[in-house]
Amino acid sequence: MYFKKKIGRFNLFNKTLLIPEMSRILTHLCAACLKSFGINAKALETCNEASLELGKEYTSGKECYPCQITMGDILYFLKKEKKKLKGNFDIEKYLYLMPETAGPCRFGMYNKYQHIVLNSFPEFAQLKIVSLSAGDAYSFDGMIEKKKVTAIRKASFIALVTADILDRLLMRIRPYENKTGAAEQFILKAQNILSKAFEKHAASGNFNFIFKKLEQIAENGKKLIDPSIPPKPLVGIVGEIYLRSHERSNQSLIKNLEKQGAEAVNASIAEWVNFTSYKELKNAEREVRLNLTSFKIKPIADSMKNVLKYGKIFFYQKYKQKRIYDRAIKFLNIAQDHNVKDLDKIIKEKKLFTLDIGTEACLSIPGALSYAEHGFNGVVNVYPFTCMPSIITSAIVKPLMSKMRMPYLDASYDSTYQPSRETAIRTFMYQVKRHFKKQGRG
Ligand code: SF4
Repeated sequence: MYFKKKIGRFNLFNKTLLIPEMSRILTHLCAACLKSFGINAKALETCNEASLELGKEYTSGKECYPCQITMGDILYFLKKEKKKLKGNFDIEKYLYLMPETAGPCRFGMYNKYQHIVLNSFPEFAQLKIVSLSAGDAYSFDGMIEKKKVTAIRKASFIALVTADILDRLLMRIRPYENKTGAAEQFILKAQNILSKAFEKHAASGNFNFIFKKLEQIAENGKKLIDPSIPPKPLVGIVGEIYLRSHERSNQSLIKNLEKQGAEAVNASIAEWVNFTSYKELKNAEREVRLNLTSFKIKPIADSMKNVLKYGKIFFYQKYKQKRIYDRAIKFLNIAQDHNVKDLDKIIKEKKLFTLDIGTEACLSIPGALSYAEHGFNGVVNVYPFTCMPSIITSAIVKPLMSKMRMPYLDASYDSTYQPSRETAIRTFMYQVKRHFKKQGRG
């Protein structure tokens, strides 16, 4: 009962929706997109020393690392805000966004745990946590006017794909940039340009304006590439979504790989959203089959409705994603996204895992194989220390990579700094470069 009152679907009207950072670009573009629909969304500040200390203070150390970081982010913001606004601070004016997923790992528990902590501060105890769920494809149903639900879902998905593309542009340009730091500065500017564009045009559905900006960004980004720098070995990243996307928590893994001579491709965030819709579609199809055997008309009709609903969402996502990638790829050849259907086929054909178990292992296992089979020179599995799906991924993928003679690195992180990390990355990159040479490319 306590959790039902404090965590769930609440009306977003007239509140400030606080969004913790995962991928910096994604958080800002999504906040801009929500603002366009009249929601006062605010991207929380990037995790810093003080916020991480708070996160550590209010967790036991046994929680997953992303839970610790986001715990710190929200406490840091609220304390700072209270200090700034003094007597005008009113916790009821805020909502905090912490999505969830149903089992089998701990993500479904972050918001509950975090509310228990918030509840221990009398001044923050009334904060409500908005929880979007993977189980209904992250719908805003019940939080905004009904007529806007579909439009906001579509616009948020477009913001998410655009953020993925900006990340890919950064990783495509930075290893070949003609001036140190140029790519990062350029992408930060691009993030601001696109944030403004989403804020102005997302609700009206004028996406062509946004896509034209994206095309200009890809075209101008290409000019930062020094053509005299030869191609570098390619490293594919799989693993837990938060750690892959949050630079501070993965201790700038991608930049470190680049420093050692790699070009990296990170698994996208859209991949996970596609996966949740695909999984709901598969569940609905299975329900239809089960209901058909019992000849009950109503359950058959309901499950068929779900097949149509999730089928439409999934195919819309795939269609839209391809169209947006194509707009950028016209100017700069960034890597296309994995197709979740193809990933499902890989695990089924090779009998490696099953979608029924869920979790990111469903994507990381076939994602790693797909990199290995498509000309990459190494694979990194990045995850929070003790992350269950990533440990399963490692147990399945490591022997396969060894058989394929594909360099592979498990990179687990918590708030400590491992002195051997640098050596592990250097050794991995030595193997990656040898692999690249064997392909006759180095
Ligand atoms: S995916 Fe890993 S880090 Fe995330 S909640 Fe599950 S166990 Fe924790």
